[in-house]
Amino acid sequence: MNVVIFGPPGAGKGTQSSYIVKKFNLYQVSTGDLLRSEVKKKTDIGMDIENIISKGDFATDEIVNELIKNIISDPQKKNKLIFDGYPRSLNQAKNLKLLLENSDQKIDFIFFLNVNKDTIIKRIEKRSILEKRTDDNLNTILKRYDTYKETTKPVLDFYSKNPNFHEIDGDEEISIISSKIEQILLL
Ligand code: AMP
Repeated sequence: MNVVIFGPPGAGKGTQSSYIVKKFNLYQVSTGDLLRSEVKKKTDIGMDIENIISKGDFATDEIVNELIKNIISDPQKKNKLIFDGYPRSLNQAKNLKLLLENSDQKIDFIFFLNVNKDTIIKRIEKRSILEKRTDDNLNTILKRYDTYKETTKPVLDFYSKNPNFHEIDGDEEISIISSKIEQILLL
């Protein structure tokens, strides 16, 4: 099965994806991680990406679409993908559909982790103590939230009509969210 998990920054997409990956033996596709690994390579494109991420903006669709192309067409990962933080724009959502179709796959489950802004701010401030991410300070968090609202709303509209779309209350405890997702995946 292929799964998309999306929601605002700090919604717990990464945490929930890691859990599902282990439980269902899937492969996690985090565009945030892929972008950060480009930054570490210190290539020209990596420097551009670093600039974008630290401001709280989104990387261009071209860059992100290119990063996931080979993963989707990898036969070893076929029907074992969980997308964390992708798609984040309508263009990416359409690109994902196309790439999956090209390798005879589809999205089987879409989870939307809906979280309110106060919870996000608290969670990201907590994470900034635990992990070193240049984009986890309050100004960038608020900017990332606004960017999310603007570009991800059309993705929500695009997906919410699907019968395999599931909205989950992301303000709940991590373990409660995990078990809700698990129950749906086991249906
Ligand atoms: P994340 O680790 O998913 O929170 O992503 C961290 C940052 O990477 C985001 O704030 C964006 O700047 C960038 N990013 C991650 N995924 C995408 C995407 N699908 N499209 C555009 N930018 C992305």
